[in-house]
Amino acid sequence: MTFDSFIGNLKIVDRLRAKLRTERFPHGLIFSGPEGVGKHTCARMIAKALNCTKAATGDFCGECSSCRRIDSGTHPDVMTITVEEEASQIRIAQVRQILSMLDLKPLEGGSKVFLIDPADLLNPEASNALLKGLEEPPEDSVFILVTVNVRELLLTVRSRCQVYNFTPLTLEEIRQHGVSGELIARWSQGSIGRALSLDLTRLHKERELVLDFLEMAVSAGEDQFQDLLALSADLSRAKQDFDDRMTILSVLIGDVLYLKENIPGKVINIDVGERLARIAGAVSGDRLIRMSEFLGFIASSLKNHVNRQMLTDTLAMVANETVSLWLS
Ligand SMILES: [Zn+2]
Repeated sequence: MTFDSFIGNLKIVDRLRAKLRTERFPHGLIFSGPEGVGKHTCARMIAKALNCTKAATGDFCGECSSCRRIDSGTHPDVMTITVEEEASQIRIAQVRQILSMLDLKPLEGGSKVFLIDPADLLNPEASNALLKGLEEPPEDSVFILVTVNVRELLLTVRSRCQVYNFTPLTLEEIRQHGVSGELIARWSQGSIGRALSLDLTRLHKERELVLDFLEMAVSAGEDQFQDLLALSADLSRAKQDFDDRMTILSVLIGDVLYLKENIPGKVINIDVGERLARIAGAVSGDRLIRMSEFLGFIASSLKNHVNRQMLTDTLAMVANETVSLWLS
């Protein structure tokens, strides 16, 4: 296995490989971008390239003892720190452990690589401690900070690192990973991590509930209003599923908007395309956009423990032409 096995974000990989070949590799790197697009995998590949005992400069073999121990997390010069079990942040003691290794020579003659993932969960003291390491890194040390959002990191940390912004994978790249189901490939939205962890049975079940609600919300007349409120109650009942249901609803609304705009290639839920097309015919683009905006309001209201059913009832009213007419 070499860099050629990495799928997606090829420009980033090319730039990193070019730097590896110059032997003036930066001491601080930030890999920023959405979950599940290969940031951590790429960071481990860099660690392997810097320590591989077989491959030519700038590459790795994936088979030598050094490469294998980096994969299994047992290489003495490559250290990963992450949030420990039952903690919510990376603690200063973990960063100090890295700093204590800084002045030591690499035990196996390659480079010391410190991988911090997720770096946005360094607590403030830990971030400040890390700065010391980034300010005067020894020649043979490389820090790689992995984060979903570079802006979550201290400016002082960012300014000492080269930032690489990873982007979601294309549908084709998701398929290259061996994802064969079209619905999973589309639902992954460019994250191979999400594609591999998606529970299709559960998605179908939850989506059915959400789709029933959406269909009735856009079409219910006065006489169906009690039924609509009953669906709203079903939708809001289970607290643990509510976030996922709202995510599904926002994706469905996005699909309906794509259909209205005549961009069917962007539709995610292609297997229910006909139902989405009927919704597209029954509701205006403005109303869909207002629903989308209201979903943003729901996300922020949930943090303040607003009643879930009140939110979905209101959403139903935002969606429904008849009720909107009464209210205006
Ligand atoms: Zn190797």
